[in-house]
Amino acid sequence: MTAPVRVRFAPSPTGKLHVGGARTAIYNWAYARHTGGTFVLRIEDTDPTRSTEENKQVILRAMRWLGLDWDEGPEVGGDYGPYLQTERLDTYRDALEKLKERGQVYPCFCTKEELDAKRAAAQEAGVAYEGYDRTCRNIDPDEAAARIAAGEPHVWRLKVPLDHGPVEFDDAVLGHMSFPIEVMDDMVLVRSDGTPMYNFAVVCDDTNMAITHVIRGGDHVSNTPRQILIYEALGYPVPTFAHLSMINGSDGKKLSKRHGATSVEQYRDQGYLPEALVNYLALLGWAPDGETTIFSAQDLFDKFELGHISKNPAVFDVEKLDWMNLHYLMELSPAAYIDAATPFLERAGLATADEIAASRPWFEAIVPLVNERIHRLEELPDKVAFLFGDEVGLDEKSVAKVLAKEGAKDALIACREALAGCEPWDAATIEEQLRAVCDKLELKPKKVFQPLRVATTGSMVSPPLFGSVELLGRERTLARIDAALPQAL
Ligand code: GLU
Repeated sequence: MTAPVRVRFAPSPTGKLHVGGARTAIYNWAYARHTGGTFVLRIEDTDPTRSTEENKQVILRAMRWLGLDWDEGPEVGGDYGPYLQTERLDTYRDALEKLKERGQVYPCFCTKEELDAKRAAAQEAGVAYEGYDRTCRNIDPDEAAARIAAGEPHVWRLKVPLDHGPVEFDDAVLGHMSFPIEVMDDMVLVRSDGTPMYNFAVVCDDTNMAITHVIRGGDHVSNTPRQILIYEALGYPVPTFAHLSMINGSDGKKLSKRHGATSVEQYRDQGYLPEALVNYLALLGWAPDGETTIFSAQDLFDKFELGHISKNPAVFDVEKLDWMNLHYLMELSPAAYIDAATPFLERAGLATADEIAASRPWFEAIVPLVNERIHRLEELPDKVAFLFGDEVGLDEKSVAKVLAKEGAKDALIACREALAGCEPWDAATIEEQLRAVCDKLELKPKKVFQPLRVATTGSMVSPPLFGSVELLGRERTLARIDAALPQAL
């Protein structure tokens, strides 16, 4: 019987959650859900100079916002905690003791200056530095013990078995991998202050947390043979590895700030929906089949297989994400749309959450007028700003092209008269009345509707006119026509 799947996402809180990390988290989550396994979140905060509590909070918040619920980890607990590396230092100490007993490590007293000098000498001689030259490996154990007892600073290094042969593993994505043992230097496992190095802590944690599959970014591939040597030294079973391809920008270069937003929270703040971002990121290197692009979390759980992950670099295409987000926005009910849009309207100073709550039907009626054109919710305030406030600023170009044209004034006056008596005040009746104005003046609809559009919305490009006029209400519509009339010819 195989052990139940346990996977983990193990971010270092040295920065925000970026899209690459989010994709790694999604794949772990999907694999856990697909297999009925457990999704663990572990915070790798052993680098004290770069880890911050704030980054940890940002990562947890971004995970929650994406909907990536973890079964074990910070805030939810679990049987294999604690889930912060800084709270697991005793487990690394125990593992080091075990390695000492097994004769798999040795203390190294070389100072940083000595090591730097060796590196510099190699560079000067024009030969590649092959890593630590194992000077301390041959120190007599009694002498080493005496130096430790005397308080001499030292790190602990892995005694790489020189007769090991290549380090090999079958990666679930990359296939068979093989690394020559000659390139593995005796890596430091524990620093002189007693804190563990990344490779050591990860192996201890993955073992103690009973992780069965390590699904992580391809930038860790070169760490894997090193970690395998540590597993072997400890006599622990080696998990299955799955390394994910890089994510590149559309120019083929590694995704970075140059390409725009990289953190999940930036995408949230631009008005992408979490479902759209999860769907999009899941597709960066994985596909349920050759065609399906829109799928729910449940579809992802149903279909996700490690074997379907592509080894080729994925390309992050913002336009495709925008298209997908539009799709998800269009699927929202007006109520859900306004819920999602509330922070954007608030931030733009158009309405407070209380004001929105007090006039839900009015706000929800905005949605069908604009949603076909909005790819990101951050675009919404600009499109609907004209609906707020009594007055509207008139766009100069629109005034010149539309209002300052012969006949615009007569059209506006006729519209005003029709709208003053329009009953009931709804888009359909407003349209009927305004079309009657066209007939009466024997003008093409454009000649009547465009001046009215500029007068009421401030611009010749706006959401559908009749619905907009309905939402403005009679009083504001008439007042805006009056305000525009002096500029009409
Ligand atoms: N903490 C590592 C990182 O943030 C991940 C380690 C791993 O997945 O093994 O890159």
